Amino acid sequence: QKFVYDFTEGNKDLKDLLGGKGANLAEMTNLGLPVPPGFTITTDACKVYLRSGAEPAALREQVGAHLDALQERMGKRLGQPGDPLLVSVRSGAKFSMPGMMDTVLNVGLSDACVEGLAAQAGDERFAWDSYRRLIQMFGATVLGVAAERFDDALEQAKAEAGAVNDVDLDAGHLRDLVAVYHDIVRLDAGRDFPQDPREQLDLAVRAVFDSWNTERAKLYRRQERIPGDLGTAVNICSMVFGNLGPDSGTGVAFTRDPASGQQGVYGDYLQNAQGEDVVAGIRNTVPLADLAGLDQKSYDELMSIMETLETHYRDLCDIEFTIERGTLWMLQTRVGKRTAAAAFRIATQLVDQGLIDEAEALQRVNGAQLAQLMFPRFADKVTADRLGRGIAASPGAAVGKAVFDSYTAVKWSRSGEKVILIRRETNPDDLNGMIAAEGILTSRGGKTSHAAVVARGMGKTCVCGAEELEVDTKRRRMTAPGGVVVEEGDTVSIDGSTGKVYLGEVPVVPSPVVEYFEGRTHAGADDAGELVKAVHRMMAYADRMRRLRVRANADNAEDAARARRFGAQGIGLCRTEHMFLGERRELVERLILADTDEERTASLEALLPQQRDDFVDLFEAMDGLPVTVRLLDPPLHEFLPDITELSVRVALAESREDSNENDLRLLQAVHRLHEQNPMLGLRGVRLGLVIPGLFTMQVRAIAEAAAARRAAGGDPRAEIMIPLVGTVQELELVRDEAEQVIAQVQKRHDVDLHLALGTMIELPRAALTAGQIAEAAEFFSFGTNDLTQTVWGFSRDDVEASFFTAYLEKGIFGVSPFETIDRDGVGALVERACREGRATRPDLKLGVCGEHGGDPESVHFFHAVGLDYVSCSPFRIPVARLEAGRAAA
Ligand code: ADP
Ligand code: MG
Ligand code: MG
Repeated sequence: QKFVYDFTEGNKDLKDLLGGKGANLAEMTNLGLPVPPGFTITTDACKVYLRSGAEPAALREQVGAHLDALQERMGKRLGQPGDPLLVSVRSGAKFSMPGMMDTVLNVGLSDACVEGLAAQAGDERFAWDSYRRLIQMFGATVLGVAAERFDDALEQAKAEAGAVNDVDLDAGHLRDLVAVYHDIVRLDAGRDFPQDPREQLDLAVRAVFDSWNTERAKLYRRQERIPGDLGTAVNICSMVFGNLGPDSGTGVAFTRDPASGQQGVYGDYLQNAQGEDVVAGIRNTVPLADLAGLDQKSYDELMSIMETLETHYRDLCDIEFTIERGTLWMLQTRVGKRTAAAAFRIATQLVDQGLIDEAEALQRVNGAQLAQLMFPRFADKVTADRLGRGIAASPGAAVGKAVFDSYTAVKWSRSGEKVILIRRETNPDDLNGMIAAEGILTSRGGKTSHAAVVARGMGKTCVCGAEELEVDTKRRRMTAPGGVVVEEGDTVSIDGSTGKVYLGEVPVVPSPVVEYFEGRTHAGADDAGELVKAVHRMMAYADRMRRLRVRANADNAEDAARARRFGAQGIGLCRTEHMFLGERRELVERLILADTDEERTASLEALLPQQRDDFVDLFEAMDGLPVTVRLLDPPLHEFLPDITELSVRVALAESREDSNENDLRLLQAVHRLHEQNPMLGLRGVRLGLVIPGLFTMQVRAIAEAAAARRAAGGDPRAEIMIPLVGTVQELELVRDEAEQVIAQVQKRHDVDLHLALGTMIELPRAALTAGQIAEAAEFFSFGTNDLTQTVWGFSRDDVEASFFTAYLEKGIFGVSPFETIDRDGVGALVERACREGRATRPDLKLGVCGEHGGDPESVHFFHAVGLDYVSCSPFRIPVARLEAGRAAA
């Protein structure tokens, strides 16, 4: 088996095997871009190692052969005293996991060849700096020495030399530091730093394999839903040096602004530095545009390479590069992460550039991003005290209590507090705290710092590099210019779109995207306006593309009107329960307590006109579009007073000997109706069948409302939906009664109302007998909330808080089945019910009205099984439209 690929052998489509970094290094190599030669050890080799605890037998020899070829090509050998070849050993999985895994630079240096390197480069300082970096990185990541041990020694060396920055240390200082580092390794790792370069290489490769399974990597994968068994590839890349003096340097760049999507030059550059220095925020970088002034030739070449990459990948790319004495080298590229806003803008820009078509543009965004853009932001005129300003790294408005370490962030957020995690800079150990926080604020680091990259990936608000704020994590406080002190627990507000940081709670305003959907905004030329234009275009692409219709779950005219503005094509679920609450409760109580037909009829007759008015308004708001009204669903006792309260009242009254007859009857009824499992009790169609006249009253109200709308010149399209049906007989009974009522109303008003009658499919038995049920139903609407509860046998309200977290942690669920439809179980029933329903009645209309109707993944499933529409809450409608478009694109 082939475990090693030269950079010239791979390509960008081999990410599974070569990891993202390796595949793209190969792609760039084959594009003729300046990539330092090297080779990649496959993820297969890593998998063997992770499974068996040992590298595959063939690996050693294959690495040897590729190493020979590399040495041949470079004209130097690892460890060669006069002119040593150095390489980096770099992790690189299929999906990028920023900063999660290990990389070791300068592998191959040893006591024997450090002077040779110095002589070759004509730079003593550079050679010793490279060597101390190797021992430091190798010691920490391969030999498990605590990183602070080296940091402390470095700080001490600087103090002794009176140096401010690393670059102020001269060759002599660094030589001494190397000796100290050697001692640290010997003491802490219990062995000498390995002098044999091949041993260094092999140990580093193994360490990269091992880094796949560190706790922080596992946590990141769970968060990002990256499978745990992919393994990482390892890239061996010949070193180029950015730390060879002022005409050298290293940087990162984006082909467009990953925050806003704006076209232009974005990135950071650091003179006389090696790789990690930029990301770690150790010294301050300069904006990439400044490189033009430092090294025009390399700058021009970089710009032209970026254009090549964008055209080749047809997307925003991010890049790592190094300049060695005026020569530009490409060290990494990939299709870059971006904010939601940037994703929408870039997709439409690329369409305009002719690089992608509309269908592909839809694949470049997703519903989760759109949902994120619909979050509120801070008001434009903020009156709160501004503490300072940093870099707008990841947008959004976040308010919370200041915490200065991850542990506190997690602890406080568990107890329901909203927190802002404030750090000088973050590192992968802060991941837990970043997840728990509403937002992240750092005082160091740029747009490409760890905090910024990870926050953007998580869709979390982040302001980074707010340098005027002095963060003191030990004393848990932050000091702003002017001496304002923020202590742990004080409320702060951070604006990830502007980089501004405020003391106290800043009020938030709706997002421009929501304003747009509401029809209240027109697009200007600023970022918000450009975003609105892009969203508008993408929604149009989606609407053109999609087959699924999108309806709203709405119970009143106001929600219906909003839903319509958001693009709803009808109401898929109007719940009638709220129409029985409030002032009408008393009437409902009388209905439930009625002993005689007369009493019952009286309360039903009192309810009828009120119900009718509700429907008239609703049908008017949705004129011309279908409105599915579900007849009463919840358990009866929900309409009666609380059993404990009532018992106390009755007991008190009895002790005063002035018992109230009505209360006594109520209490009896409450006892009579009490259920152990109300969810599985007297509700839905069962209720309609045991309380005579209830459903017919509702049907009459619907029919009369429709007739009234028709008389007023409207176009009502009501659909009557029977809940919780388990067998066709139930449906037939209700339907027969309903048809009589409808016939009466039609006759009296002399109209044909075209009322459709259908049912919810929300019990496994209904799904399994859908072929029979379709005999009596003109439409099905899948109630996937109840269907999920009954298929799994757990009640949502009881289990989400109890064992779901454990299930998610154990990986039993990737995601809650109430959030995303469980395709294998619930989905299989839906699929079967669709098939058998349509076999009985080919024009059966199919929809879904559970929460899943607005969930991106689930929408794709509903598209695939051939539903006619999904229905969701008004705010989810744009998301559902977009995802329905993406599913069809
Ligand atoms: P990560 O995945 O954390 O970015 P990388 O493997 O890309 O890790 O390496 C870390 C840093 O070292 C990057 O800045 C990279 O550009 C730099 N680097 C890696 N290999 C080399 C090399 N052969 N020559 C010079 N710099 C390198
Ligand atoms: Mg990198
Ligand atoms: Mg239900």
